Order: sequence, then structure tokens, then C-alpha cells
Amino acid sequence: MGIAKVLIVDDSRTSRRLLREMLERNGFEVAGEASNGEEGWQMYGQVKPDLVTMDITMPKMDGIESLSLILRDDSEAKIIMITAAGQREKMVEAIKRGAFDFLTKPFDEEKVIQTLKDALN
Ligand SMILES: [Mg+2]
Repeated sequence: MGIAKVLIVDDSRTSRRLLREMLERNGFEVAGEASNGEEGWQMYGQVKPDLVTMDITMPKMDGIESLSLILRDDSEAKIIMITAAGQREKMVEAIKRGAFDFLTKPFDEEKVIQTLKDALN
């Protein structure tokens, strides 16, 4: 396949920047950035990314609800949740609802890239 397009959904500007830098360094294309779940859901339909990284805690609409809406529209969507320490229950719920996998902040570049590559295969 060609260059994989990733949509980054996170309310933290710093997290978005870190992820963007890691992805671009490793040959991924960032197709868009959204700062809340609602924007992420809408942007998913517009940019049709190969992968989504989805923060859990965000204003307006959280990552769990956004994940559910995206999967309702596209059951093949590959969504990787981004969790902080102490969010085990939410992470389990996200996996139950169809998230492909999860990543924990602070980001470990090797783990981030490996998880995204696994999701593409
Ligand atoms: Mg957040």
C-alpha cells in the first residue's frame, strides 16, 4: 500500500504535535488533526484516513463516543485509543466497543509506530 494516512484526535496541542512529529518521521501522512470527539468524527468522514489515534478525555465529545460514531459509519475503521494513567476501565470499554488497540501517554515512539503498523496489517 502507499503512505498510510492518519487522523489525530486529541484536545492536547502538545500531544497532537508529538504524534504528528513521530508519524511524519516514520513515513506516515497526517491527514488531519481534530481537538474533540465531535470534530474527529466529522473529519473522519471527510478525510477517510487509514488509521485514527483517539484520545479518551476531551471536551464536547469524548473519545469513546467518537469511536462509537465512527464505527457506526464505517465498521472497518481502525482506531487506536490514547490513554493516560488510571484509565483502565475506559480503555477496556473502548476495546469492547471496537477499538483496535491502545497506546499510553507518555508516548514511546517505537511502541506507537509498531502499534500503527500492526493495525494496518
Ligand atoms: Mg485529552
